[in-house]
Amino acid sequence: MIKLCKALDAVLDNASLLESETIPLDEALNRVLAENINSKDNLPPFNKSSMDGYALKSTDTGEGQSKFKIVGSIKAGDVPRTEIKKGEAIKIMTGAAVPKGADAVIQIEKVKTCKDELEVCGKVCEGKNVLMEGEEIKKGDSVFERGTFLRPSEIGMLASLGYGRVQCYRKPKIIIITTGDELVGVDDKITEGKVRNCNEYALVALSKNLNVSVKSYGIVEDQKEKILGAVKNALEEGDIVITSGGVSVGDYDFIEDVLHEIGADIKFTSVEVKPGKPVTFATFKNKLFFGLPGNPLSVINTFEIFAAPAVKKMMGRKDVINDEFPVILEDDFKSKGDRDNYIYVNIEKKDGKYYARNTGMQSSNALFTLTRSNGVIIIKKGIKSVRAGDILNGKFIFK
Ligand code: AMP
Ligand code: MG
Repeated sequence: MIKLCKALDAVLDNASLLESETIPLDEALNRVLAENINSKDNLPPFNKSSMDGYALKSTDTGEGQSKFKIVGSIKAGDVPRTEIKKGEAIKIMTGAAVPKGADAVIQIEKVKTCKDELEVCGKVCEGKNVLMEGEEIKKGDSVFERGTFLRPSEIGMLASLGYGRVQCYRKPKIIIITTGDELVGVDDKITEGKVRNCNEYALVALSKNLNVSVKSYGIVEDQKEKILGAVKNALEEGDIVITSGGVSVGDYDFIEDVLHEIGADIKFTSVEVKPGKPVTFATFKNKLFFGLPGNPLSVINTFEIFAAPAVKKMMGRKDVINDEFPVILEDDFKSKGDRDNYIYVNIEKKDGKYYARNTGMQSSNALFTLTRSNGVIIIKKGIKSVRAGDILNGKFIFK
């Protein structure tokens, strides 16, 4: 049994950044840029009005009242043909190009008009309500560096810069294999000795949550040859193979045997973590293999601790490990002290501090507890009990 931090190091040491690919911008959300982006244009591309109002020469305004002749109207998208001369103003809409000769826009709410006459009270400063060409970004400016995580704001920015396709790191393909002769399908009746297969759904959902491509091979019977065949195919087809169940010491737990038979490089088969001790990790060529335990809470816990950081690293993300922060306990919790114990809780912020409340039984099949939780607190190995008021490290889940 190895320490959790050593196990995570082994996983991350073997998770390598994938190659890049050029993809349409509308598929780039939550991906990581594999190229530097420079602006091909000035932004804004022309002097642009930021208000509905009147464009004029600021030097025509002063302390008292100034009168102007209104010489036309420009809407967004128009090319202004008139040049504004002394004493003239032109009606202008938000987003329209400010015509030559004008250097300021006065808001419509601040003026009086009568037919084609405009009356302005007070001084209008040069540049007022005008977004200057290149004010935000100049042609050739560096906008994003390789390694930038693309959120909705970056996607919008790339669109305004004319990048309809961008180079991003490829997302890993995950293959899910679910083992267990006791499993029946989600639409099946539960007969004696059977349980519904929830892990396959949870694992596909966990993968989708990370924005990767995922394929499930469905349920594979607890027969060594069948598992061997499925694992071999999966290692051909995917970048990461994740199995559920079959990693304990039971007579029908074949994952470790199969890995030996294939000649995979087994890095660990047991970690000081609860829930999820029998988690197994191996590499085969440049592929990663995670053998996760079958208990529904263990499978999610070990995916989040080991598989999620590997996936994020392979996609080029820098936030590989979710931030831990101090959490004040509102309840007492117990632990055996033999492993780092992940306790699923509800974390709430009150007066700037985080508090954790018990959400129910913590046995490794207690998926219902997890549905009432938004986070986890970690009772470190060696600690057997913690009390309300104590402070532990915690984090939010599924981030
Ligand atoms: P195993 O790791 O295969 O020994 O399974 C441990 C426990 O998890 C057993 O009680 C199994 O019935 C249960 N289990 C395994 N796989 C699944 C699954 N896909 N869905 C729900 N429960 C499962
Ligand atoms: Mg099993």
